[in-house]
Amino acid sequence: MIPVFCPQSVVDQTIVHLQAAGTAGKECLVLWLARRLDDRLDVVAAHRPEQQAWRDRFIVDAAEMASLMALLRRDRLMIAAQVHSHPKEAFHSFADDEGAFIRHQGALSFVIPYFARDSSLSTFLAEAALYELQEGNRWMLVPREGVRARCQIRP
Ligand SMILES: [Zn+2]
Repeated sequence: MIPVFCPQSVVDQTIVHLQAAGTAGKECLVLWLARRLDDRLDVVAAHRPEQQAWRDRFIVDAAEMASLMALLRRDRLMIAAQVHSHPKEAFHSFADDEGAFIRHQGALSFVIPYFARDSSLSTFLAEAALYELQEGNRWMLVPREGVRARCQIRP
């Protein structure tokens, strides 16, 4: 498994996006764009795609996804993780499983509870429910003690 290293600034930016949407009573999707190195994925940006969102779901249209894919190819980046907020508890819903934006084995998906209302840099990893895409295209909850091997927040 290749760990994802995420700078604090990207986590902060992610929380800003989630909280802004949450204030409007909406979920929000943020994608962590990363550069692939031999031994890790270095996150370089928190990208909030254009999206339509409601209290308990969001959609990104095909044109927006196509322009994002073009940007990834141009800058030689990949989506290391997706992050989205929930109005209440954090879990991967059936819709989250089916509609996930990343599909590579080992992909990470963070779900942040309560629209990230009380989120901060220091609570982010602890309050998130983290899922990993495993063989057979199944999203599995990462146990608490397994989080650090998959994702580390760096200064
Ligand atoms: Zn969800």
